[in-house]
Amino acid sequence: MDPWVAKVIILLATIVMVAIRAPHGQRRRGIPTVRSRKGRLEIVLLTIAWLAFFLPLIWIATPVLASADYALRPVPLLAGAVCLTLGLWLFYLSHADLGANWSITLEVLDKHRLVTQGVYRRVRHPMYTALLLYSVGQALVLPNYVAGLSPVVTMAVLVGLRVGPEERMMLEEFGKDYQEYMALTKRLVPGVW
Ligand code: SAH
Repeated sequence: MDPWVAKVIILLATIVMVAIRAPHGQRRRGIPTVRSRKGRLEIVLLTIAWLAFFLPLIWIATPVLASADYALRPVPLLAGAVCLTLGLWLFYLSHADLGANWSITLEVLDKHRLVTQGVYRRVRHPMYTALLLYSVGQALVLPNYVAGLSPVVTMAVLVGLRVGPEERMMLEEFGKDYQEYMALTKRLVPGVW
């Protein structure tokens, strides 16, 4: 299949993702931070995540990664498009439910409220589930070993290293409420883990 199909899908998905995130990023700038856990590891993880976010765009716009290309096939393309759509849908819902409590890093904000409703009712990290689904979808759609796989690996490492410290921060901030919330929910996949 012509890789242009993959390029159009990846570009559209990226635009939707940025459009979902943009208003939240803008609002976040106006909210004071009460406590920050943005340590060295967090800065390194965020920097790597940004680089991995741009690799698919570099693949679309330039031939620098062409030596890692492989043939695009319809089944992975279709499966990838489904994962991208589900990931973006969950990304939208989790932003909508988290509202003014969202932050790109580990922070407690002014008037921070514990959200346990909507997509947060059954899992504690639906936004990370969304980002993992998105990156798996992207890897399936994008026929290039480097640009396709780097975001999945990066996202898996980011989520793996972040959920523990994030939950400890939430426990310190919300105590018994977060403990009760943890007892009723899973981390990433409803009913599983
Ligand atoms: N881990 C969550 C949120 C990611 S955004 C998810 O995947 O959906 C990261 C910020 O969200 C953290 O800095 C934390 O302050 C905040 N946060 C995480 N879970 C929250 C919750 N249930 N209610 C309110 N804020 C939360």
